[in-house]
Amino acid sequence: MNRIYFDNAATTALDSEVLAEMMPYLSEKFGNPSSIYSYGRETKQAIENARKKVAKILNAEPGEITFTSGGTESTNTAINAAINDLACKHVISSPIEHPATLRNVEFLAASGKARVSWVKLTANGHIDLADLEQLLAQATEKTLVTLMHANNEIGNLLDLKAASEICIKYQAVFHSDMVQTVAHYPIDLKNTYIHFISGSGHKFHGPKGVGILYVKNDKQIQPLVRGGSQERNMRGGTENLYGIVGFGKALELADGRMKADSEYIQGIKTYMTGQLKAHFPGICLNGDTEGRSLYTVINASFPKSEKTDMLLFNLDMAGVCVSGGSACSSGATSVSHVIKALHQEDANNHVPIRFSFSRHSTMQEVDEVIDILKKSI
Ligand code: PLP
Repeated sequence: MNRIYFDNAATTALDSEVLAEMMPYLSEKFGNPSSIYSYGRETKQAIENARKKVAKILNAEPGEITFTSGGTESTNTAINAAINDLACKHVISSPIEHPATLRNVEFLAASGKARVSWVKLTANGHIDLADLEQLLAQATEKTLVTLMHANNEIGNLLDLKAASEICIKYQAVFHSDMVQTVAHYPIDLKNTYIHFISGSGHKFHGPKGVGILYVKNDKQIQPLVRGGSQERNMRGGTENLYGIVGFGKALELADGRMKADSEYIQGIKTYMTGQLKAHFPGICLNGDTEGRSLYTVINASFPKSEKTDMLLFNLDMAGVCVSGGSACSSGATSVSHVIKALHQEDANNHVPIRFSFSRHSTMQEVDEVIDILKKSI
């Protein structure tokens, strides 16, 4: 059976050029980067080269980039550091953040370590920036604002410039989960008021289990993992050498082909959106699909029925990989917290499907998926 992979917001295929770059570090170049002899020096150099590449592409300083195990660890570190090391006593976040943020913020609230305010959403799922400003204006404590750059389920993009300008006005600490946008959009950290960002290699054809945490150099924070002096004392433990090399290469490749890839993938998204609207008049596009939205994601709800209840299963049987709930809780069949936040009491009448694309997706695959959907409903 031919498999159609439309779940690229969950993870992407490892690029063969990335794998080729990683391979020597899985075989002959195995030295411990902390060792002082040549085997160690060459692997240490590979890590520092990757760090320099990443910093240059994001317009940051190499010392502001720490390699982590992925987006979840980076976000945990940033949020906890803002509370423990930067004296934030109040957190503003949104109800549609990734669980990496949500569970942390909820924990801070439950443990009494910080007061939490949830910013309102607009009808199409954007952050209500007027409400963000009001929450900051009312706060008397030092505040951490943690808002994702792009929502992994519905694709909505935050107006980062507008949000950061509000944060400047109130001198808030600002973290953004950029897991869905690093390597997909130009990012200029030196010219953005932001203190922390999280990124993850496997969302742009890099390896799994490696990510970055950006910490602006005027913020001094404690390591999340204490141990050896790896990662400039920010994260103890022998480095994920081949992962880090792969992250650097994947980001470099994505950056070089960003314009061409984004235009191509946007074309796939626009075509599929049109086909869905033409063939399934009852569907509802979740979020601002045709507006400020990731070019990689469409989230469409089909009206609930006996047939649509089986949709994910039937798509899987036909070899189509898509996501129903959120990427990181695949297997869960209940309506996700994002769809609940958007549709509230009406959420249970929705059967949401997320289609997410990459440079490997094709128009022909879109046609095939539309045909399979027509047969299933
Ligand atoms: N944040 C967002 C927006 C994501 O989409 C994901 C992964 O799905 C994560 C965080 C978690 O990243 P990682 O899998 O690298 O821990």
